[in-house]
Amino acid sequence: MGKQPGVKLIREDGLRHDGRKPDEMRPIKMDVGVLNNSDGSALVEFGRTRVVAAVYGPKEPIQRFVLLPDRAVLRVRYHMAPFSTTDRKSPAPSRREVELSKVIREALESIVLTEKFPRTSIDIFIEVLQADGGTRTAAITAASLALADAGIPMKALVGGVAVGKVEGILVLDVDELEDGNGEADMPVAAAPDIGEITLFQLNGVLSREELEQALEMALKGIEKIVELEKDALKRKYERIEVE
Ligand code: ADP
Repeated sequence: MGKQPGVKLIREDGLRHDGRKPDEMRPIKMDVGVLNNSDGSALVEFGRTRVVAAVYGPKEPIQRFVLLPDRAVLRVRYHMAPFSTTDRKSPAPSRREVELSKVIREALESIVLTEKFPRTSIDIFIEVLQADGGTRTAAITAASLALADAGIPMKALVGGVAVGKVEGILVLDVDELEDGNGEADMPVAAAPDIGEITLFQLNGVLSREELEQALEMALKGIEKIVELEKDALKRKYERIEVE
């Protein structure tokens, strides 16, 4: 994580390059039921990062060999749209996308009550529409909402956010500039209602003390994110009652 010369991430007044306080997340927007042709869907925005998730299932998959006798199989495809990045991204799946699909699946698998649906698959398609850092954590947040929207039982809702270290300061919800120029990036996903952490990664270097502070910061952020998820789900049910 090399810093480009001339990039100033913490201003003289102690605020970040976009005017946020160190522990402030970007403006967050969430909406569920945004697609007609899937069983559940959600759109999540963290600032300029915009991600849509669609869920199909539980259903009998076309490839029957993937079935498990005692539970549903969770399958995740994370994909970045060619227009999601500054340089057009090749639409073919990259190694990074394959790896992130696995990481996102693992962040959700223990939370979904897969044992209720043996011999089925639950498919989650994630499309990054616009990338500005934190797409994996936005993807996990969107997938959790889309699963809830599809009526798939879960132990709790999951949310995610990354904490970074830039110019020696810990910052919540890193954007692409901070991620690319900072000293560390730590994406976390958790289900605060049951006290479980389902994703924890660290790129770069933090002291042990910083790591503890960063985790605390991430978990506080995730509590807020999960509250927003609950609001988004409530809004959808209110909409249905009115219709
Ligand atoms: P995350 O999106 O979860 O933070 P990374 O740390 O791998 O994952 O990526 C950080 C940011 O770098 C992404 O959110 C995106 O803005 C940008 N990025 C990632 N991959 C590409 C790519 N292939 N082309 C252009 N920008 C990319």
